[in-house]
Amino acid sequence: MVIVLHAEATERELEQVIARLAGRGIMGFAAANQGRQLVCLSQTLSLEIQTWLRDNCPVVERTLDIKAPYKLASLEFQSEATEVVVGQGAGQVRIGSGQFVVMAGPCTIESEEQLYKTAAAVKQSGANILRGGAFKPRTSPYSFQGMGVEGLELLQRVSRHYDIPTVTEVMEPGYVEAVAQYADILQIGARNMQNFPLLREAGKAGKPVMLKRGPSATLDEWLMSAEYILATGNHQVILCERGIKSFDTATRNCLDLGGVAAVQEKTHLPVIVDPSHATGKRSLVPPLALAAAAMGANGIMVECHPHPEQALCDGAQSITPQQLFDLIKGVNKVVAAVGEIYEPEDAEIVAA
Ligand code: PEP
Ligand code: MN
Repeated sequence: MVIVLHAEATERELEQVIARLAGRGIMGFAAANQGRQLVCLSQTLSLEIQTWLRDNCPVVERTLDIKAPYKLASLEFQSEATEVVVGQGAGQVRIGSGQFVVMAGPCTIESEEQLYKTAAAVKQSGANILRGGAFKPRTSPYSFQGMGVEGLELLQRVSRHYDIPTVTEVMEPGYVEAVAQYADILQIGARNMQNFPLLREAGKAGKPVMLKRGPSATLDEWLMSAEYILATGNHQVILCERGIKSFDTATRNCLDLGGVAAVQEKTHLPVIVDPSHATGKRSLVPPLALAAAAMGANGIMVECHPHPEQALCDGAQSITPQQLFDLIKGVNKVVAAVGEIYEPEDAEIVAA
């Protein structure tokens, strides 16, 4: 259940509502949405308690009986598609509003030359957002761990040069502020999907957050993690499906496009697809990118490197600049062909 407070409610009034509920043995938690203060509860309040609330807490505007365990991420809370606005000026991108968004770039930022070369191709190909990791979650502690803050500085310089917004991963709560200072979207990696302190900190940074699905996470677990970010009052959340564990080792992971379709029936948040980490194999990236465009995803994220065979990380799944050009041409054709099917419908906002 979600208790919506009046627009003018103060922090103190919010605390009072939580305290009064606690006095009746009910645990409520502070959350926010579009500037509105909320109290979220995992249970549904009885009619008697709802009447008591109305009579005793005039700061309460209304209650919403949302059945899903995630509240703010749910279509029950908001039926209108969330539009995530990334970057400023001419390069600004809107994710979730009908435009199919392409994020592309190297797995890892390696050098000035590598990033400028890749960004030039990304920009010319018509992709909308430049990706590049500065902090890398590597399976082995003896693999290249990323360039750190130096990589972030480089990413920002290249982003300004080509007027293209950026996405990069943040792995630790202590680095959220630094990453938010340099990048336009904070990426939470698959391995960190349930790092709850990181999710809260990323939410508070005031920048869009892209939440990758954990390799073994159910859709509900993924949405509960999104809820941690949303509860901070940051509604600019993008979901990214990047493949889940399977019994078959033929591909690095198993791209769950069925899961993408299913999660779209549960949430208003935009969902993008990462065919690079899903497959681990360059030749499989274009077909799955086309499939994502055909099935109604809001965009894709692909790894691209000017010399994939020399890449310090994920070279086998990185496509070349030429392949990126061809992929985007193909994706545009698919998007045009299916465009009318996925036109967002007129929908009403249930809350806030
Ligand atoms: C990445 O995007 O480079 C990455 C590490 O992805 P994931 O968290 O999905 O493995
Ligand atoms: Mn990678």
